[in-house]
Amino acid sequence: MSKTGKTPATIAAQAAGAVDAATGGAVPGISLATTYLRGEDYGLVRPGNVYGRDHNETVRQAEEVIRQLEGAAASLLFPSGMAAVAAVFRALPSGARVVMQTGIYWGTLKWVREYCVRRAILLDEVEASDAGALAQACRSSADMVWIETPSNPWLRTVDITAAAGMAHKAGAVLVVDGTAATPVLTRPLDLGADISMHSATKALNGHSDVLAGVLSCREPGLPMWREIAVDRHDAGAILGPFEAWLLMRGMRTLPLRVERMCSSAMALARWLAAHEGVAAVLYPGLAGHDGHAVAARQMKGGYGYLLSFLVRGDRARALDVVGRLRLFQRATSLGGVESLVEHRHTIEPDTGIPENLIRLSVGIEDSDDLRADLAQALAP
Ligand code: PLP
Repeated sequence: MSKTGKTPATIAAQAAGAVDAATGGAVPGISLATTYLRGEDYGLVRPGNVYGRDHNETVRQAEEVIRQLEGAAASLLFPSGMAAVAAVFRALPSGARVVMQTGIYWGTLKWVREYCVRRAILLDEVEASDAGALAQACRSSADMVWIETPSNPWLRTVDITAAAGMAHKAGAVLVVDGTAATPVLTRPLDLGADISMHSATKALNGHSDVLAGVLSCREPGLPMWREIAVDRHDAGAILGPFEAWLLMRGMRTLPLRVERMCSSAMALARWLAAHEGVAAVLYPGLAGHDGHAVAARQMKGGYGYLLSFLVRGDRARALDVVGRLRLFQRATSLGGVESLVEHRHTIEPDTGIPENLIRLSVGIEDSDDLRADLAQALAP
């Protein structure tokens, strides 16, 4: 990217330059202190370090890696993706109007719907992958537009640049959940978004052993960003230092993992699309996917690690296929080095997810092994 070597691979591998300054260690230690010393004059020994609620070097180091990967002005970590979602919504005034993409991660939609009722926030859900529908929803003024691209589990894509234009015309801030893309593939802030959000529990950490969420902003003077930062400090939704350290270690291999996961997901999507036991494949990398042109423009280097497909047959057939898989582990979540499979209708039965939909999170195993596993599971 630049002559100074600030490509994602370099930023990630070197953890944005984090080392252990106290010992000269090549990797940073974990800073555990919850409180910081003052000198005889009562001045802080380390300016900026007062109390552990959000003064922690390990958390700052992990945030710096993400800040650089996102090309952001600032990044803030939270104890889960949902805590990051909640932090954004808590920054809205009562009576605000939000335009939100529908059919996104069910946990987000469920919490947002309930929160908006409690806070008298007007929530307009819209199929944002339909540019006309989003434009229509943005004709009236709004405080925030929220999109998730590619979406989980439908893999719908939203044109971030176009959405930013529509949101800003409506007077709204655009927030993008880019969990299924990662900043390696898409940097929403470069495309006009105001705030970028990720569940760092997924590919950012990548090892299914840390819960974390992150928000990044393009313009730190944005009033909403200031509210979010103050609220995190005062209300204490802070990531612990152990988790921040593990996340930083996980992120060192993020670009490598994403590259492998994307190439395997693309190969599996193509193979599944040609399989007679499969009725449809939802993956933005496929030329026939509704959002392919948008994805090709705004996803660089791959189309992500998440894909869904519809088996030919009913719920029983889908569960039979899922049950026969040997390498794909049956578990919720996504973005880990190990491939996972989910029968999403079992998890969210009342939201319109087809009973024959199977969602895959493609890991870094050998792609031929994964294909062979799907082949034996899909055999009649
Ligand atoms: N956003 C997306 C797209 C997700 O898939 C998830 C979790 O699955 C979340 C947000 C919530 O993140 P977390 O589980 O870290 O709270």
